[in-house]
Amino acid sequence: MRRFAVACLLVSTVALAATPYPLDRAVGDVTAAGSYATVERLTAPEFGGRLTGTPGYEAAAEWVAGRLRAAGLRSLPEVPGYLQRFPLTLGGVERAVMELLPAGEDEKPRSLEYFKDYLPLLYSGSGDVTGEVVFVGYGITAPELGRDDYAGLAVEGKVVMTVRGAPADGRDWTAYDSHRARTANARAHGAAGYLFAESAIANPNGEPIADLPMADVSEALGDTLLAGAKLTLADVRKVLAKGGVASFATGAKVRLAVTARPARPAQGANVVAWLPGSDPAVAGEYVLLGAHLDHCGDWPQLLPGADDNASGSATLLEIARAAARLTPRPRRSIVFVFFGGEETGLLGSRHFVADRPASLVTCLGVINLDMVGAGTGAFVAGGKNFPALQQAIEAARDRRQPGMTVKAGRSEGEPRADHGPFQQAAIPAVSIFGSGGNHHGYHSPEDTIWWITPKAMEAIGRVVLDAAATLANDGVAVSPPSPGR
Ligand SMILES: [Zn+2]
Repeated sequence: MRRFAVACLLVSTVALAATPYPLDRAVGDVTAAGSYATVERLTAPEFGGRLTGTPGYEAAAEWVAGRLRAAGLRSLPEVPGYLQRFPLTLGGVERAVMELLPAGEDEKPRSLEYFKDYLPLLYSGSGDVTGEVVFVGYGITAPELGRDDYAGLAVEGKVVMTVRGAPADGRDWTAYDSHRARTANARAHGAAGYLFAESAIANPNGEPIADLPMADVSEALGDTLLAGAKLTLADVRKVLAKGGVASFATGAKVRLAVTARPARPAQGANVVAWLPGSDPAVAGEYVLLGAHLDHCGDWPQLLPGADDNASGSATLLEIARAAARLTPRPRRSIVFVFFGGEETGLLGSRHFVADRPASLVTCLGVINLDMVGAGTGAFVAGGKNFPALQQAIEAARDRRQPGMTVKAGRSEGEPRADHGPFQQAAIPAVSIFGSGGNHHGYHSPEDTIWWITPKAMEAIGRVVLDAAATLANDGVAVSPPSPGR
């Protein structure tokens, strides 16, 4: 009797191992319901808005690692336990006050509101400054390019205000067009406060500067501050884009007081799992699927980051779980990376590119999912640079979601999504976005699960699984980037 049971068990195990689980079934198992349930989990308060380096992020990373383990996916030998560590500097704000001071003596200061008028940069320094706002355009000082937005202005002890961008003149301004460069230049000129005019949203992407209070301000507040000069931000942006300078004392006065936590060293992590290729001859070749797991934390309230990027992480987890069961497995490997530190400056993807696990030899391509939870179509940043990847995605779309729009865009490896560092390292890489990402919730407490269209995640997830498995099985020439801008 016992011998019979053992024999039965043996037979059924063999039968199970040989049971085909083809791509068609795997694609069908990437579901709207599965992705939605994961978004609900990742946006819960227990993960504290998933700011890299915080306990909430650690808990989210461990949770994802547990799900990958349960799905039967392996960790890479170089990344045991699924977590690839990298260092970062963590700041943090405890409280802030901002007031618009009146022109007349008898009027009262107008106190300004978080997310409506302003929000301190999440890496702001501490300080309490009351002073005139001096508008300094792009905030660039680049003698070798013949530009100084601070020329002839005294900003010591004052509050400078800048906008994003650099002259659209075809020259390379990358070194200057970043939050890090703009804030450092404000400090170098002795500014006592720093404002960045665009939208009053959470921004953890920058370098803490001790004793310099820094804030994002809304377009409307920016316009209010320029009103004395009879200008709007739209007016000055036109001048600036043409290479002109628009720097002037505004006459407006504000108070900005921020109490920040001292910057401290912290640890981030990418969560990395591996579906080894079934053909030893080509198993060192791999397709990488990515999504950033992190968001902006929970100050001054929970920032759930449902679309940005619980949607991409949930979809990637759904893809990984289905891919893990593929029988037979694709001939080449598929690597799944949940990046940390995206919101803090693409730290996780930069680290992965710089410290690639040695088991991974040749990357056929990277497909990164970012904000895939809204809209009816998809946009592929870098699709025009890497036509072979774009074609693989479009062919998968034709098989799985015929009729879904998949637009290709050009990418300069810009520091706006996790495909950028790969592209800069000459690895074919794209980021796929849902077409509905321009909702008002971006980097605010409003980016909740209520914005999420589960079917958007399902459609993009099915297409990406098909594209990746097909690439991993059939292989594809690693196409060089197409020339020209
Ligand atoms: Zn974001």
